[in-house]
Parts: sequence; C-alpha cells; structure tokens
Amino acid sequence: GEALAVSARVAPLGSRLVLLLVEDLTEARRIEAVRRDFVANVSHELKTPVGALSLLSEAVMDASDDPEAVERFAGRMQIEATRLTNLVQELIDLSRVQNDDPLEDAEPVRVDELVAEAVDRCRHQAGTKQITMAAGGTADLHVYGNRGQLAAALGNLVENAVNYSPARTRVGIAARRVNAPGGDMIEVAVTDQGIGISEKDKERIFERFYRVDPARSRATGGTGLGLAIVKHVAASHGGEVTVWSSEGQGSTFTLRLPEAGAARDRAHQHPDLD
Ligand code: ADP
Repeated sequence: GEALAVSARVAPLGSRLVLLLVEDLTEARRIEAVRRDFVANVSHELKTPVGALSLLSEAVMDASDDPEAVERFAGRMQIEATRLTNLVQELIDLSRVQNDDPLEDAEPVRVDELVAEAVDRCRHQAGTKQITMAAGGTADLHVYGNRGQLAAALGNLVENAVNYSPARTRVGIAARRVNAPGGDMIEVAVTDQGIGISEKDKERIFERFYRVDPARSRATGGTGLGLAIVKHVAASHGGEVTVWSSEGQGSTFTLRLPEAGAARDRAHQHPDLD
C-alpha cells in the first residue's frame, strides 16, 4: 500500500526512480523485519535462563531439608546465572561494535599481543580438553584499529576453534602480510581440526543468534553472537572475515585487516578518516 502510494505520486519522474524508491521501501521493510526478529530472539534468549533460575529457586525452597539437593540446585543456578551474564555482556559488545566508530580510538596494534590475549582467554578451556595451541608469523606485524574490538574479534575466533573441536586436537593461529591494491593487509588465520561447518550453514553462521547446533553451543556457554561481532569489527575496520571448512575435518577462519602503516597512508589520502 505505502509503496504503491509513493510510486503513484512519483510516477511522472520516470519509472527508474519509482523502482529505486520501491526497492528502498522493500529494503526498509527488510531492515525492520530483521530488527523485530532480533528483539524476539533476544527476548527468547533472556527468558530461557531467567525461567530456569525461577524454577531452580523454587526447587531450592522446596528442598530446604535436603542439603545435597540444595547444593545441586544452587550449582545449576550458578550455571544459568553465568549464561545470563555472558549473554548480556555479548549484547553490550555487539551494540558497541555496531554503534561506535572504531577509528575514533584507532592506533597501531601489535598482532602478537592480540594473539597472546586471545590464546590466554582460552587457555583454561583448551587445557581441560588437552588442545594444543600454536601461533606463528606474528612478529613485527601491526594492524590499525580499536584495540578492544580487535581483541574481542580474534578472541571469539580462537574461542570457537577450541569449543567446536574434540579433545587432543590442535588449534593453529598464523599471521602474514598480504599485498593488496589499497595498501597491505594483515591476515590472521585460525585453524582447527574440529567438527567443521556444512556449505549450507557457512552462509548463516555470521547472523546474530544463528547456531548450527543450539544445544552444543549452549553447552559451551555460546550465545550465537560471537561471529556477528567478528563480522562487524572486520567490516568497520575496512577488513573482512572469511571461512573455509570441511565437515568433520575442521575449519579455518581468516580475519583480514588493514596493516597499520597502510591504514595511516590511506587516512592521509582521505582526510575525513583522520
Ligand atoms: P556461538 O556462541 O554459538 O559459538 P558464534 O556466533 O560464535 O556463536 O558461532 C555461530 C555458530 O557457528 C556456532 O554455534 C557453531 O555452530 C558455528 N561455528 C563457529 N565457529 C566454529 C568452528 N570453529 N567450527 C565449527 N563450527 C563453528
């Protein structure tokens, strides 16, 4: 209705303009639908742990004369509370990377520091699964951007590599400089020997809340927001994230970011980026 009314009004301006306007409205509707889905998803994701907490607290009250049961329920309450905290934190992170201009606090950031931070974040989890982590090629490489956002992005990729891999496998992180027309780029590749991702799922894993296996994701404390955050950070830094995967064999996620020197040179060519 709305689109038709608009097109009738602008029809004399030429059919191409009408088409553009109709496409614009369709795009606006699509964005509105995505926003509504997102709010529905957030509500659902919040309700699950809150519902569990409410049931568990009732169970604790009913079991007040059975200390062992109380302890068991309290333990599960702690898990649900952690889940809720993770979800809220990731929602805050996502809204930050969507709203903040990362180049406002941009600086050259050492790749070896980013990698060390990401590895540290997963050390405990990797240790319990006896996963070996190895990093290479990071020396003397610098990317340009917001340190916190870049650390969050790489941290998410390494965390996923560990989470979606069986015990006693290897996670490798390799960095290198690649020549690109607009200035050199740095590629950081995170490779695992995990469960892999099907061709069909590869297109969707970067969507907010999309998980191949929700139960598995939840069991590892996943929120379904990690890769959406990575994708946003990469794009807003003038880079990208890509995935290669073979089901049952493993995956490689590659984060491509402007090299520090190259990014500064580009900024000088475009004063509005300074
Ligand atoms: P989650 O919190 O569920 O890990 P992400 O946005 O980080 O959310 O990832 C989305 C989904 O992509 C995961 O639920 C998982 O199904 C899949 N995935 C991500 N990384 C890997 C990986 N390294 N190997 C296999 N599957 C992965």
